[in-house]
Amino acid sequence: MRDNVAIDGPAGAGKSTVARQVAEKLGYLYIDTGAMYRALTWKALSQGLNLADEEGLSALAASTSLEFKPLASGVTAVFCDGRDVTMEIRSPEVSQKVSRVAAIPGVRRELVKHQRKMAAGGGVVMDGRDIGTYVLPEAPHKFFLTASLEERARRRWRELVNQGQGVTMEQVREEIAERDRRDSQRSVAPLRPAPDAVVIDTTNLSPEEVTTHILCIIRQTS
Ligand code: C5P
Repeated sequence: MRDNVAIDGPAGAGKSTVARQVAEKLGYLYIDTGAMYRALTWKALSQGLNLADEEGLSALAASTSLEFKPLASGVTAVFCDGRDVTMEIRSPEVSQKVSRVAAIPGVRRELVKHQRKMAAGGGVVMDGRDIGTYVLPEAPHKFFLTASLEERARRRWRELVNQGQGVTMEQVREEIAERDRRDSQRSVAPLRPAPDAVVIDTTNLSPEEVTTHILCIIRQTS
């Protein structure tokens, strides 16, 4: 069976670009678990649900269908109950609220079940916050990407501006610092490197350099 690869780290550390490249090079499936928490948050907001209602949100997670479909353009589209929400889940409102939804134990239980099912056959590169520590603790290849807050904010800001969103660097820096704080301090599966993860500081590296480094380690340890 083909081994799974876990890539964790804080917002803006370059996980999704690198995970997509690693998956492409290995011919594996890329799964962005952050997109799943985002899609559920988008659904809760569009239904006007109270984000403090843990039971209601856990029930929502259990009754929501989340799917990924790779497109010819290289983008992976995200579907929530059959609707394409790829763009909607990147909105500033979803970004601000997603960590609250992701801290609910019942929500995590449902989404983790789905994530483990998708990885059961192997050949998956999964990125998130708790993949190496909790979702796939048996994965033989684990990486934890970090970068300075300043650099992560700059990357995220550039991405948002390219998408036409009018945000300042200061707003982006505050949003990701707050998200990191919530993600690291929550009681269930907090953001932290697995003891056996290779930690890579990407502050001064391009995504291609990080991908090459990861592929080299995977080849050496396979
Ligand atoms: O990866 P991304 O920044 O899109 O993730 C959005 C949010 O989803 C994170 O800030 C975190 O609150 C949550 N998340 C999580 N566990 C994961 C992936 C994402 O709690 N495995």
